Amino acid sequence: MNKSKDNIKEDIAGVLIDSEQVQNKVKELGKKISRDYKEKNPVLISVLKGSIVLLADLLKAVDISCSVDFIAVSSYGENTETSGVVKLIMDLRESIEGRHVLLVEDIVDTGLTMAYLKENLLTRHPASFKICALLSKPQRRQVNIDLDYIGFEIPDDFVVGYGLDYDEKYRNLDYIGTLKPRIYQKNG
Ligand code: 5GP
Repeated sequence: MNKSKDNIKEDIAGVLIDSEQVQNKVKELGKKISRDYKEKNPVLISVLKGSIVLLADLLKAVDISCSVDFIAVSSYGENTETSGVVKLIMDLRESIEGRHVLLVEDIVDTGLTMAYLKENLLTRHPASFKICALLSKPQRRQVNIDLDYIGFEIPDDFVVGYGLDYDEKYRNLDYIGTLKPRIYQKNG
């Protein structure tokens, strides 16, 4: 068996945000969300698959009554650039009519995914709608979208880890890092 193929850390060029910084930030976001949603019983909607790690940690960081649901949209596949077309792949299980919705997203890049989901979800008449994103790349924005809770603003680099993938790998890293160029070049 070729063990080096399994060592995903060898593919990482550098750590952008380490595990402790991520954990501290998620706890801080959890405190704010707990304060803002007290007695509102919000539904935290996780955008699959990238935000599952954030959702799991965020859930533990909030101390209010809340529920969770999942939604999936089309992803980049093996590319590091968006196709610009967002499609719903999997819908929510429950109705959000009259509910306080907090959309939980790993990263906002062009903003197209969030803009699409916001428009889609608002047609279902939630009591309120807010977005929580761990990462935001403001330089890449193509559409204007308000983010209510942001973990970190980052430069225009493709990042992996803490739920974020490249070609379905690296989600299990507990930090946010950049990939060595040879990883894209191999597939490009
Ligand atoms: P947007 O629609 O804002 O351009 O992109 C949102 C989605 O693109 C995110 O949910 C994420 O799946 C993917 N994405 C954007 N930037 C990155 C990145 O730097 N790394 C990874 N792994 N995914 C990204």
